[in-house]
Amino acid sequence: GYHRVLEENRKLYNQVQDLKGNIRVYCRVRPFLGRQSNATNTVDCIEEGTISINTPPKYGKGRRSFSFNKIFGPSATQEEVFEDTRPLIRSVLDGYNVCIFAYGQTGSGKTHTMSGPKDLTESNQGVNYRALGDLFLLAEQRKGTFQYDVSVQMIEIYNEQIRNNSQNGFNVPEASLVRVSSTFDVIDLMNIGQRNRAVGATALNDRSSRSHSCLTVHVQGRDLTSGGVLRGCMHLVDLAGSERVDKSEVTGDRLKEAQHINKSLSALGDVISSLAQKNAHVPYRNSKLTQLLQDSLGGQAKTLMFVHISPELDAVGETLSTLKFAERVATVELGAARVNKDSSDVKDLKEQIANLKAALARKE
Ligand code: ADP
Ligand code: MG
Repeated sequence: GYHRVLEENRKLYNQVQDLKGNIRVYCRVRPFLGRQSNATNTVDCIEEGTISINTPPKYGKGRRSFSFNKIFGPSATQEEVFEDTRPLIRSVLDGYNVCIFAYGQTGSGKTHTMSGPKDLTESNQGVNYRALGDLFLLAEQRKGTFQYDVSVQMIEIYNEQIRNNSQNGFNVPEASLVRVSSTFDVIDLMNIGQRNRAVGATALNDRSSRSHSCLTVHVQGRDLTSGGVLRGCMHLVDLAGSERVDKSEVTGDRLKEAQHINKSLSALGDVISSLAQKNAHVPYRNSKLTQLLQDSLGGQAKTLMFVHISPELDAVGETLSTLKFAERVATVELGAARVNKDSSDVKDLKEQIANLKAALARKE
């Protein structure tokens, strides 16, 4: 009796928390790739969701602190990082729109988080593979009550042009979706997409990506008893490098790419801050990226941003501007996320919690 009430109370509370669709921001610090000495590490300390950066005199104060929902230090494993992403995956099957994206300068670990390293194994797989794995597993577990259809789309935004990379290396029409029934199908598609991704050499990293890469997963679930249909959607976005380029160093195509990237990342920042200020007009249409993510940024959706930083001293300028961008995003309080079906039930849940609390009080 008593324990059951407590348990139920907690479950309902979690559900209400779940329905509060505010944006979450997790920060991940890449480990040193070369030799490390204390003089070259800008990360002073990480504790309880706060990260402190040692800054050289030319950046002002000697130490700056930033707070986020979660901070993953250099030794965090792919598995640990995914563990805190899991609840979002479940909610896609419950009919929510979800957007997970990786932000940071080139070389800070975005692709590592989303896909994994080049020598991919089961243990170092990134969020994309794990998310799809979970999705199919949960769909299988619900087989008796729901019938799910999953289809994916690989999209690349390069110089403000949308390209669909899902099929055989051809640039197929935007609307085309590929139906998938296992993680293996998706891995095939992702390999094709990776090969097709436009890559340009920069001074920082010749594997660097100058395009936004988006894996979109559409889920349709039919409730086998009521016949009702739920639709959920998940965008997994590996953003182009956020570094400011020195205009004196790049020209031609590289300069054009950099300008497009700057434009779309600042459009993303503008959309989020305008949501934060609850402006009537949200400028989604200022970039292809924000148009594509429109349904997953705002009161209807759940959004998770992984912000990546490099620990090296020579990256400190970019590290600070990345953390400032992320801080702006992290302060957003979005409205309750809504399930894509008619019965929105935050109010119901609140009422039930009130009832349970009353029941609990009567027991005491
Ligand atoms: P980005 O996509 O932001 O340009 P990458 O993901 O390609 O950066 O990371 C740059 C390099 O650092 C790659 O060689 C990658 O394998 C390595 N790396 C990034 N993050 C980690 C990590 N958490 N642990 C180990 N190696 C990492
Ligand atoms: Mg990358």
